This record gives sequence, structure tokens and C-alpha cells, in this order.
Amino acid sequence: MAPAITPVTTSDSAPQATTVVVIGGGIVGLMAALALAERGVPVVVLEKGRIAGEQSSRNLGWIRKMGRDVDDLPLAMASERLWQAMHERVGGDVGYRQAGILYLARAEAEMAGHRAWLDAVRVAGLDSRLLGPMDIDRLVPGGTGGWVGGIHTPSDGRAEPSLASSAVARAALAKGAIIVEKCAVRGLSMAAGRVDGVVTERGEIRCRHAILAGGLWSRRFLGNLGVSLPTLPLVASVVRTAPMEGPTDIAVGAPDFSFRKRTDGGYTITQRGGFVAPLVLDSLLLGHRYLPMLRAQWKNVRLSLGRALLDDLALPRRWRDGALSPFERVRTMDPPIHQGLNDEALRNLAAAWPIFEGAAVAESWAGMIDVTPDSLPVISPVAKLPGLTLASGFSGHGFGTAPGAGQLAADLAMGEVPIVDPSPYRLDRFT
Ligand SMILES: Cc1cc2nc3c(=O)[nH]c(=O)nc-3n(C[C@H](O)[C@H](O)[C@H](O)COP(=O)(O)OP(=O)(O)OC[C@H]3O[C@@H](n4cnc5c(N)ncnc54)[C@H](O)[C@@H]3O)c2cc1C
Repeated sequence: MAPAITPVTTSDSAPQATTVVVIGGGIVGLMAALALAERGVPVVVLEKGRIAGEQSSRNLGWIRKMGRDVDDLPLAMASERLWQAMHERVGGDVGYRQAGILYLARAEAEMAGHRAWLDAVRVAGLDSRLLGPMDIDRLVPGGTGGWVGGIHTPSDGRAEPSLASSAVARAALAKGAIIVEKCAVRGLSMAAGRVDGVVTERGEIRCRHAILAGGLWSRRFLGNLGVSLPTLPLVASVVRTAPMEGPTDIAVGAPDFSFRKRTDGGYTITQRGGFVAPLVLDSLLLGHRYLPMLRAQWKNVRLSLGRALLDDLALPRRWRDGALSPFERVRTMDPPIHQGLNDEALRNLAAAWPIFEGAAVAESWAGMIDVTPDSLPVISPVAKLPGLTLASGFSGHGFGTAPGAGQLAADLAMGEVPIVDPSPYRLDRFT
């Protein structure tokens, strides 16, 4: 089950026509809708399940510049500014706290990685700095030590996934957006060589532009239209503790665990170095593109062969607009929790900060991430389908950049000056 989000009252039906249809009611689609509604553009968000039912309610809530690709930093920095103003913008709490993020290193090789990143991004003028073991004891007291050092970015932060999407959705609704849940989009209708509408399970909605923010489903949606978006799924498992005393407000990431304070007084914990890669048909079709990533990360990835492949093969890759689509068959992707990874995370964390020995697990969940071969998202027009803008493939770090990404998608769709240079996010970089 996904963690609960603050409820939002959405519409039962959609209009027959609008200016922009956003396909997918995750945090990216909702941010795009908010940006459009604020500009007075008529916009309809169509969500096959529940808003934020997939990745956007299941993530850790980290909002970071640290560790990002240098090409991704302008979007992260623009998004940070937008998060800072979000409470006021949406008229509600999104749980944003600029409490800092700290990565810990157990080995010299990890420190070398942090040093290399810091050198690569020096031009961005970030407040990130390398720490020694004593700095770590001072910032996060009560630990058993053993760190060779770390890297700390005080201006990084976090927000609450359980609050953020709902608050953004409510603000978009207040500005005139329409949001319809349980309404899957099966395909696009084209006229005079460009998008003229979307075909949903409840009929057609005419529109001048469509934004596809379908998370891990965007690849399948586009595949049916003859466009290849390379993404593969990875599954991460997460634990939430009951409210408890903890060592720090800083979000801390070690090689084999991470934790961050929640606004409800608990902690969100994960095995930071552990993902499950379900073996699906796309693993065979696209796997070769991920070899460099796999070589660097092979220790972190556990291949899973079994039900995921059967479930995947049972879902159609080609369908007609009049027939049931994969999006109605899976309203909400709810992958199995890897209990072993969650147990490992809790064990490793308690060994490093013994205060967590008494942590009471209140909830666990898993989420499926859409990963591109270079770990950067695609926020881009789709040349083969004029009128369609794609915003997907956020590769496990799109919650933090969602405000900028949604706005960028809105800018590109409407032909306005983009919030940041969109070139790192072009779809055609893969062709
Ligand atoms: C366990 C976990 C931890 C993470 N931690 C972090 C973190 O700390 N920081 C960070 O920045 N990021 C993190 N992420 C990544 C982050 O959650 C995602 O990058 C972000 O939520 C992506 O948002 P989205 O709107 O693109 O996708 P989603 O939230 O997946 O939304 C896509 C939506 O589109 C809908 N949809 C798809 N196809 C259709 C269709 N045809 N018709 C109608 N609706 C459709 C889906 O139902 C879904 O609701 C994490 C992810 C996970 C799973």
C-alpha cells in the first residue's frame, strides 16, 4: 500500500475540450498543471488511479542539489527557490524544511567520489563542503563513528510527500484546473499532423497540447505510438517509524542506510544502497544501455526474476484506443516490499546510531522508479508527435526537482521562455 496522502476532492467528469491535458497526476503533472492554471491556461489532469498514488507519495522527500549531475543543477536550484516559496504559493504546508543533507563515507574511495563531484560543480557556487569524522560527531551526535568523512550541503532539504502533492493539487484546483481520477488516457488523437485530443477510457477530450507525465508508464504509452523512451524499473523499499527522539534534523545518507526526520515526528528510513531490479521484457531490450550504470552500481542492485516478468508480459504493448489499455489494468503500481532490505537498513542504522535500536516500525512500502540510461529525466517536446511534451524518467530524484520540471514542461508546451535551459533533457539525446 502507498502511504496515505492528505485527501483532495477531484472531479467526477472532464470537459469535452480544454487547452492542455496533463496525463498523470503525480507531483510532476500536478506542478505543470499549477503553473498553467496560474497563467490562466485551461488545463485538465487525468490520472488513471489516485493522484500521487505511485512514486509521488512513496518517495523519501529529499530535495537535494548534492550528488546531482552538473547538467541537472540549474533545475535543482530553480526548484529549490520554488520550494522555498511553495507554502505561500499553494496556501498550505508542504512540509518543506531546509535542514541540510549529509552523505557519509566509510571508505577513502567514497570520499574521492565526493571530492570529484565537488570539483565538478565548483562553478555553481554551492554551500557543499567536505567533513571529517569529528565534524560528523558534532553534527549528528550519539553515533558509533567509523566514518572516514562525509559531505554536507546545509541548503539542501526535504518536504513531505504525504502533504506536497495534495497541497499542489488543491492550489491548481483553486486556480481553475480540473483533476479527474480513475481516468486512464489510452492514446492521442491527431489532426493536421499534431495533437488534437486525448482518448480516455471515458471518451475523447479535445485539446491543443498534451503533457505526458506518466512516470514509469510513459515508456509503454509512447511505445504504442511508435516512440521509444528508454526507461527501466527499479524498486526501492522504505520504512516509516513512529514518532521518536532522533540524533538530528539533517537528512543523512550512508552507503547502506539513510534516514530523515518527518514532520509527524517519525523517521523515513531506507537501505540507500539497495534496489531490486525486476527482470522484465525491457531489461532484455534496453539492458545494454545501462551497462555503465550497472558496472558502477552492481553491488546495490538485486535482480529479481519471477512474478514481475509474468505481470509485465501479461500487459499489452500495443492496443487500440477502443480497447482496455494497460493503464486501466494497473490503476496503481504497488510493487512488493523487500523485507530483507528494510531489515538491513534498520540494522545498519541502529549499529551506527544506537538510538534507533528502539525504533518502532509504523509502516512499510515500496515504490517503482523509472530510470533512464543517464539518470536524467526527459522534459522535451516529442518531435514525432507535435503538440506532445514529455516529462518523465526522473530516475529516483524527481520529487526535489518537480517544481522546476513541471514549470519547464508547461513552458515548453506553451512555447514560453523556459525556466532553465532544457537541452540536457531532450528526448533525442537517446537516438
Ligand atoms: C522509494 C522512492 C524514494 C524516492 N526518493 C526520492 C527523494 O528522496 N527525492 C527525490 O527527489 N525523488 C525521490 N524519488 C523519486 C520521485 O518520487 C519521482 O521522481 C517523482 O515522484 C516522479 O514524479 P512523476 O509525477 O513523474 O511520477 P509518478 O508519481 O509516478 O506519477 C505518474 C502518474 O501518472 C499516472 N499515469 C501513468 N500513465 C497514465 C495514463 N496513461 N493515464 C492516466 N494516468 C497515467 C500514474 O498512475 C501516476 O500516478 C523516490 C522514488 C521512490 C519510489
